[in-house]
Amino acid sequence: MENNLVLYNTLTRKKEKFKPLNEPFVGMYVCGPTVYSDVHLGNCRTFVSFDMIFRYLQHLGYRVRYVRNITDAGHLEGDRDEGEDKFSKKAKLEQLEPMEIVQKYTLGFHDVLRLFNTLPPSIEPTATGHISEQIEMVQQIIENGYAYERNGTVYFDVDKYTNAYDYTILTNRKLDDLLNNTRELGGQDEKQGRLDFALWIKAKPEHIMRWPSPWSIGFPGWHIECSAMSNKYLGAQFDIHGGGMDLAATHHTNEIAQSEACNHVQPAQYWMHTNMLTVNGARMSKSAGNGFLPHELFTGEHKLLTQGFSPMAVRFFMMQAHYRSTLDFSNEALIAADKGYKRLMTAIELLEKVRPNSEKASSEFEINKFKTRCYAAMDDDFNTPVLIAELFEAVRYINAAYDGKATIDADTISALKDSMHIFVSDILGLDASAETTSTDNVDDLMQIIIKIRNEAKKNKDFTTSDRIRESLNAIGIKLKDSKDDTLWNKI
Ligand code: AMP
Ligand code: ZN
Repeated sequence: MENNLVLYNTLTRKKEKFKPLNEPFVGMYVCGPTVYSDVHLGNCRTFVSFDMIFRYLQHLGYRVRYVRNITDAGHLEGDRDEGEDKFSKKAKLEQLEPMEIVQKYTLGFHDVLRLFNTLPPSIEPTATGHISEQIEMVQQIIENGYAYERNGTVYFDVDKYTNAYDYTILTNRKLDDLLNNTRELGGQDEKQGRLDFALWIKAKPEHIMRWPSPWSIGFPGWHIECSAMSNKYLGAQFDIHGGGMDLAATHHTNEIAQSEACNHVQPAQYWMHTNMLTVNGARMSKSAGNGFLPHELFTGEHKLLTQGFSPMAVRFFMMQAHYRSTLDFSNEALIAADKGYKRLMTAIELLEKVRPNSEKASSEFEINKFKTRCYAAMDDDFNTPVLIAELFEAVRYINAAYDGKATIDADTISALKDSMHIFVSDILGLDASAETTSTDNVDDLMQIIIKIRNEAKKNKDFTTSDRIRESLNAIGIKLKDSKDDTLWNKI
């Protein structure tokens, strides 16, 4: 299959021509969320980026099997195979079963991703649903000589592995530096080597989520689930493995080690990493407590925000940055993105009303060259900011044609409609139907409703004002009162 796509491979630190192992099929594995709490906007950025990549590969004609897992077990508080299990801890806190926690946050995750108009992956396997596959993989790694058991816990033998393979291949760090940055082993440690990590962990009596295995009643280590599930659904070797950049140094490094120790081959041809969403330059993370919840953004209920933003405006904000660049989150940046998004959508609506004013195609805007440039942007490692800049060239032309300041013929109008649909809706995933300028009308109506409610409040008719608020809530519209204004948002 012909394609001009070039993508940046973290593994080789180069842009490479995209050539799937088994055309026209593409296997893509993306590390999914850990569902013991709500996803924050940073997590969403990674999933929205891979959604755009999934969409573009499908647009090029590939049959993509997109596997994105749900991590619902095996995460301990510390990243050194120690500490309390995050799921059990949250379960105790919320007085729920660990699997109720998993269900609650999985549903929340799906709701949020639906609002961002992401396509569901082809398979969404869970760690707890694949315990036997993980045990089998650990057994194979032991058989191949790259893991050992100590008191019911199984460790990956990094020393042994480094004799045959390159442990730091993904990040190109120096093994000595890694060793120097890792705590020395004490007499208490079961591990043989400082860099060894657990594949299977014997459960302490208080650990609720536990399964039988040949070594102990226990639970899988942090990394083995992705190796086992990608192997099961995409094979020992597949095309793309993705996730956030923060996963490369440990999680993905260990995934490569596990898969190679088991199958003797590098699991993925292309490793793709999305860069971080930051707040004032610091990575947005669950542990740092600087995580914005998508819901806070949609309602505007956050101290750093002066207004709410629609999910599509937020998606546009994300698409304005290249997936490998950091994206700093701020009220001002979102207001600018919101404006840009509305300008784009207004032009698409306007295009429906533009009538040909010439027999000949315009020389000011050459539609075929425009399309070529749009594809060139996407083919250059999914360069969405360049694509958006191109789309704004079209916006300027549409506005000028509408105002009668540029010539346009019927064929150009129809080709422009097609292109805008392909690039804006199919590829960038900006759903025009969810957010058109017809909301301007809704806004007019909302201003009338808000006025009636404010009058009711002024007359101390709180029954009416509360009823208005509640009825709006029931249809997904939230009001936010400030000192001298009432704002509204779709939730
Ligand atoms: P987690 O639920 O923490 O396992 O993370 C789910 C996904 O979100 C992983 O691919 C992470 O790399 C990614 N991620 C976490 N924090 C951020 C951030 N601030 N910006 C972008 N992606 C992130
Ligand atoms: Zn993973």
